[in-house]
Amino acid sequence: MRSYLPDFDLQVPDSLGEALALLTQELGQYRPFAGGTDLMVLLNAGLLPAARFLDLSRCQELRGIQETSTHLSFGALTTFTEVRDCKAVHQHFPNLVKSARLTGALAIQNRGTLGGNIANASPAADTPPSLLAYGTEVELISLRGTRRVAYEAFHQGYKKMDLAPDELLQRIIIPKPLGRTFHFYRKVGTRQAQAISKICLAACARIENGTVAEFRIGLGSVAPVPARARNAEAVILGKPLEALPIEEAQLALLADISPIDDIRSSAHYRRVVSQKVLGQMLRELSQSSF
Ligand SMILES: Cc1cc2nc3c(=O)[nH]c(=O)nc-3n(C[C@H](O)[C@H](O)[C@H](O)COP(=O)(O)OP(=O)(O)OC[C@H]3O[C@@H](n4cnc5c(N)ncnc54)[C@H](O)[C@@H]3O)c2cc1C
Repeated sequence: MRSYLPDFDLQVPDSLGEALALLTQELGQYRPFAGGTDLMVLLNAGLLPAARFLDLSRCQELRGIQETSTHLSFGALTTFTEVRDCKAVHQHFPNLVKSARLTGALAIQNRGTLGGNIANASPAADTPPSLLAYGTEVELISLRGTRRVAYEAFHQGYKKMDLAPDELLQRIIIPKPLGRTFHFYRKVGTRQAQAISKICLAACARIENGTVAEFRIGLGSVAPVPARARNAEAVILGKPLEALPIEEAQLALLADISPIDDIRSSAHYRRVVSQKVLGQMLRELSQSSF
């Protein structure tokens, strides 16, 4: 059943300080509202228990992509369109550009935010695998101060995050990859566009003297949270490109994932296709010209 709009309260604070004060004064009462592309679906379906929302749109501190010599830092309100259109993101994080391009369609990309994609905490979201592969940190803010958390530790269970009721996700901070780097991103859905992932895999590898010196794989839709593939990574780390143990890594991947049957796919399909996409990525890595 649709929600009855007059039942809802939307506060629009003029600054981040005002937003944090409201969150703190009435702890657990307000739900942050960024682009609204996840929240409006729930609202329309009558599935939102919370009736009070905090529109973050005037919080300038949550906007903008900043570049330093070592990092790119994204305000939580950075939209997919801004990610797609930023030259520095193309240069350093091509997987993130692909994730943004494959999220919804243009209207969703114009409104939907990186912070919302993370804080909605869906295991099927499309940017988290890229964020995991790039060794991202998230910065959280409250009136108590700011703290940084490794993104891979942020999701603690299905829809459970390391985010206190008085905190907002402020920035997403990604170190620029150093040296010769291989990037891979693949989303498998029912269609090429406007489809939720059945599985999604992103990887980033640093190559030194023809061997894999650093390697991270992020996966979506195959576990209760966006997941690192640490077992598969360990098989590949330190190996020469011309002799990557691909089948061994594919077997190891099964210990990294715990897919379920749901409306979009079966656990069996997700296991098989994750292994196949991993194989595709590793073949591309082995053939890359470094
Ligand atoms: C038609 C359609 C297609 C879609 N396709 C895709 C797709 O292909 N891939 C994909 O990954 N997603 C998809 N989505 C989901 C959605 O667009 C994304 O998850 C988007 O990133 C959500 O961002 P938002 O700003 O709209 O979040 P909102 O809806 O505003 O918020 C989402 C959640 O995050 C919380 N939140 C937001 N910002 C903050 C913050 N700064 N601090 C703390 N909590 C915060 C909110 O309280 C809420 O719980 C689709 C949605 C629709 C409607």
